[in-house]
Amino acid sequence: MQLLALAFLAAAPAVAAPDAEIRAAAERITPAVVAVRRDLHAHPELSNREERTGHLVAERLRDLGLEVRYPVAKTGVVGILRGGRPGGVVALRADIDALPIDETSDLPFRSQAKGVMHACGHDAHTAMLLGAAEVLVGLRARLPGTVVFLFQPAEEGAPEGEEGGAPLMVREGALDDPKVEAVFGLHVGSWASVGQAGWSDGPIFASSDTFTIAVEGKTVHGAQPHMGLDPIPVAAEMVQALQLIVSRQIDGRQPRVLTIGRIQGGTRFNIIADRVTMDGTVRTHDATVRAEIKARMARTVKGVAEAHGTTATLRFLDEGNPPTVNDAALAKAVGVPALQRVFGAGAVRVEPQMVAEDFPFFGQKAPYFYFLLGTRNDAKGIGSVNHTATFDVDEDALPLGVRALATLAWDFLRAGGRRGAGMAPR
Ligand SMILES: [Zn+2]
Ligand SMILES: [Zn+2]
Repeated sequence: MQLLALAFLAAAPAVAAPDAEIRAAAERITPAVVAVRRDLHAHPELSNREERTGHLVAERLRDLGLEVRYPVAKTGVVGILRGGRPGGVVALRADIDALPIDETSDLPFRSQAKGVMHACGHDAHTAMLLGAAEVLVGLRARLPGTVVFLFQPAEEGAPEGEEGGAPLMVREGALDDPKVEAVFGLHVGSWASVGQAGWSDGPIFASSDTFTIAVEGKTVHGAQPHMGLDPIPVAAEMVQALQLIVSRQIDGRQPRVLTIGRIQGGTRFNIIADRVTMDGTVRTHDATVRAEIKARMARTVKGVAEAHGTTATLRFLDEGNPPTVNDAALAKAVGVPALQRVFGAGAVRVEPQMVAEDFPFFGQKAPYFYFLLGTRNDAKGIGSVNHTATFDVDEDALPLGVRALATLAWDFLRAGGRRGAGMAPR
């Protein structure tokens, strides 16, 4: 019985999925997808300020005949495509924001917004998801269920003091009506070449928590430190002690990184500083390890400060990003087979990375599968890493991304939604 069910899952999509139609449609609309990507690239907008982008997406989805909710989570858009046949509900997600980076390339469609750049490829994500919507609209009459398109703002982090991103999409009910049963998403990058897709059936991205530490001292002449309270050696000890958490207190088999990226204190060589502040990031692939490190950090900061008669505060900037951990059953039943059909031998299992995403917040509502789309092309000189001023994507990857997204949605619905994909209800 079990074997029969598995055989059905393995065989059914290969027979029934309209792979050739999806491929032909994706290739036919590639010039339009490229044009949208270039337009977005030329007009990048920072997190929670994606006014033009959100408007463009909403208009495009309305033109395609989708139900549109806009704005959601400030500047985001939710598009709903109801297929001609009954079935489950699947969501596809793209993030839409850019970064505060000054683009240095001489591309004809380089950023026209000074100091703002699509340096993480979210322009490509948005264009590909619009492309997938168009492809699936073409198959609407046969589509066995509903596809929800999530265009999410502020993946790179809302400005301080503002809400935003995936958590706000979730709080505003983007996955609730209709109730989404699974979410698929991707990220472009130069870690793989065009034609490749990287997948995992477990962790793929890390958690990330941004923190700031303030050590309070008492300023005095640099010749008489005993009359004040010098926070600089205390901060130095704290940096060392925090590294001992990740190197000595956490199981060595668990990936984890603790980085202090900024340290600041003092005004002059012969004046004891009154305060030192430090900013950093913590990354793991496991929710338990993440909580453990954060608790130990609090203990360490307090303990080191107290040992020297100073006070210090540790503050995490916001709720942080959970680790991105793919649902193993969804990966096996839908995610990996779909990528193997689109990318052939180019679909490869990848080791989890230490970069992070806010995508896993969607996991509060439904299981998910997230994969990496290779956009590197050494022959074209495209290889800069994400978040740099020369980042670019090989646009030959765009039709592959469109096909992958459309195929994942189709396969999930074709398999009969969550139950058909062999996943426990929750
Ligand atoms: Zn990024
Ligand atoms: Zn990104």
